[in-house]
Amino acid sequence: MTEPETRPPGVGPSDVPSPELRPPDVRPDVEGVVPLDVGLDGMPGAICTYYLERPEPTLVDPGPSTSLEALEAGLAGVGVELSDLRHLLLTHVHLDHAGAAGHLARTNPRLLVHVHQDGAAHLADPERLVASTRRTFGDDHDRLWGEVVPVPRDRLRGWRPGDPRPLPGIRPLPTPGHIAHHLAWEVERSGVLLAGDALGLNLHAQAPSHPATPPPAVDLPEWYRTLDRRLAPVEVDAFGSTHFGLHPDLHQRRVRLRVALDALARRVAKAMAEGPEAEEADAEAFQRESVELQGPFLSPERAKGYFSCFPARTDWEGMRFFLSRNPNVLSELQS
Ligand SMILES: [Zn+2]
Repeated sequence: MTEPETRPPGVGPSDVPSPELRPPDVRPDVEGVVPLDVGLDGMPGAICTYYLERPEPTLVDPGPSTSLEALEAGLAGVGVELSDLRHLLLTHVHLDHAGAAGHLARTNPRLLVHVHQDGAAHLADPERLVASTRRTFGDDHDRLWGEVVPVPRDRLRGWRPGDPRPLPGIRPLPTPGHIAHHLAWEVERSGVLLAGDALGLNLHAQAPSHPATPPPAVDLPEWYRTLDRRLAPVEVDAFGSTHFGLHPDLHQRRVRLRVALDALARRVAKAMAEGPEAEEADAEAFQRESVELQGPFLSPERAKGYFSCFPARTDWEGMRFFLSRNPNVLSELQS
């Protein structure tokens, strides 16, 4: 096989260990929305930010602080400098989505940061957010997420349902489940819903959706309501996942993620009923199976790389955390 032709600009052959490690397609092409691969830990196809030129230069989820250089390079590729940016629209405060926000706001005095009102405090004072992320990622935390700096309060714009839109033509859509304050942003003129993590992980056009359920904020019934009701009437040509890229099939993915969340909840509940040994075995199995499920689409190496940064067993543990606090939730959902 020859060198892949699909590798992103700026990634030379020496950075591509094998032709199979190509990034996933970021099709379909959507006018006015530019997906940019900001990379994670040198890995392509893991974190995607979205640049909107109109109505003013805007990024939806800038990515982690460790990807700032890649972000700057990606924007330069479309003729934009960091200082040109006027708005960040955040889907939620997790550091893989919003970790760069404070750095960007600090160096660009005209940048406003829009987030659900219930997430705003975490950006102004990120200490608790960082502590929580550190509990989840342990020793990998600093390498993956770097330093997180506060967003100056006078630049923060908290949005809550009923408030006017922060930007004309861009509709914030509450999409709780992954975390309570999750917002998706619908770019109406482009026919795109920038969905953050609301539709889980969609790492490749053909790969199954993976449930992104890290502890401690997952709420299963809310997520089901988001998939079954809040997203059902949305009419768009494409949606953008942070992990990863643009996809045409919002409504198929809604159903697929619903099935994947349900399957994860059931297997975790079963293991919890059997005891700690079964839990450990099933968490490991879920990690292994997730790599195997994505491998044929991404390449086994890339699937392994992705799930070593974002372990599927962390999603298993997040589901366990939720079920341990809501022991009757599965029977209530059934009735
Ligand atoms: Zn998240």
